Amino acid sequence: MPKSPTVDGQSAGDSRRRSLSALLRRVHLGGPVSRAGLAEWLGVNRSTVLALTTDLVAAGLVREGFPELTGRAGRPSLVVRPATDRAYVLAFDIAVDRLVAARVGLGGEIQDRREAHRARAGVDLDAVVRVLADFGRDLHRTATPGAVCVGLGASYCGMIRPGDGMVRFGPDLGWVDQAFGAELGRRLDLGLPVLVGNEAHLGALAEHQRGVGVGVRNLVYLHGDVGVGGGIIVGGELLGGDGGYGSEVGHMLVNPYDGRPCGCGSRGCLEAEVGERALLDAAGRPADLIGRDAVREVVEAADRGEPAARDALRTVGDWLGIGVANVINLFNPGMVVFGGVLREVYRGAATHVQERIAANVLPVSRTRAQLRVSALGDDATLVGAAELGFARLLADPLGVRVG
Ligand SMILES: [Zn+2]
Repeated sequence: MPKSPTVDGQSAGDSRRRSLSALLRRVHLGGPVSRAGLAEWLGVNRSTVLALTTDLVAAGLVREGFPELTGRAGRPSLVVRPATDRAYVLAFDIAVDRLVAARVGLGGEIQDRREAHRARAGVDLDAVVRVLADFGRDLHRTATPGAVCVGLGASYCGMIRPGDGMVRFGPDLGWVDQAFGAELGRRLDLGLPVLVGNEAHLGALAEHQRGVGVGVRNLVYLHGDVGVGGGIIVGGELLGGDGGYGSEVGHMLVNPYDGRPCGCGSRGCLEAEVGERALLDAAGRPADLIGRDAVREVVEAADRGEPAARDALRTVGDWLGIGVANVINLFNPGMVVFGGVLREVYRGAATHVQERIAANVLPVSRTRAQLRVSALGDDATLVGAAELGFARLLADPLGVRVG
């Protein structure tokens, strides 16, 4: 039977699915909200909200109840909450120093997690997938009886082909064209695909949806580990580029003539000048010293007044300021967020970053761009992976079977 057309050519079914999607997304990301609040937010009347919530209650995705007593007179509007114990995703984070798996309930709460330290080099696909699949099966097995896994999402510290989770280039692990998403999905054997995203892209989305950048429609997120990843949100959408490999702020060329060599094969990229090694070398730390703790130690040493550490943060802060000045001039963001180890670097070098921005950013853009550190911290990329896992359910709430 053909769908009934509406004035704008969309079927009534499409319109209803979009409304259900918007409502569930609002409750999932924003938490409990009254029916009256939902009606206002969706721009519909209360009877429409009643019909939509009734469908979502029947599907086991939300619950309704009375709000906490407010002391105000009158009959309170029912509050709609996500059914956190009915639907969950498994989220995975393949970071430079660690492998993480988590079970995340609808509404975004991390219910349980497993974590392993990861050696930086010489780890093959099989070893990584084996650890993550064991974690994932364990988290699946220990979920609340009757809860349904609605998606699988993973964050990977490299360049990912959208669609199939192929790692095109993972310089840190030395991976080129490794079928990571497909292999993890096969090992988990849950009948669901593993959606994989670049860590900085997912960190940007997570900060935009649940972190420091909620409500900021134009946002640049910089994620520091060994290098620097970037995620750029324009008009509320991630800027993926033609092949999904965009937003690579870390490989913005800032020092082409006498710059440091970069892991990508080029020279003088932003990440070569502000990455972990650049800071540790500038501070005169030994070549075998690596990791976030080593970066944190330099920032603490600078706080205590150690000249080499202060000079290192001035140099790195100036390069970071150059990179940030360029992205502010290009994208006119409302916020620039420093995540991963760049949280520590920015705390130690904020003055130098801000001086460069004051000197080189167009005043009309400079006054709008707030500089912030990540609110989600080390879990930003994991939270982004979980949201990737929820995407299918949120797009079509009644199309995914729950209970
Ligand atoms: Zn590079």
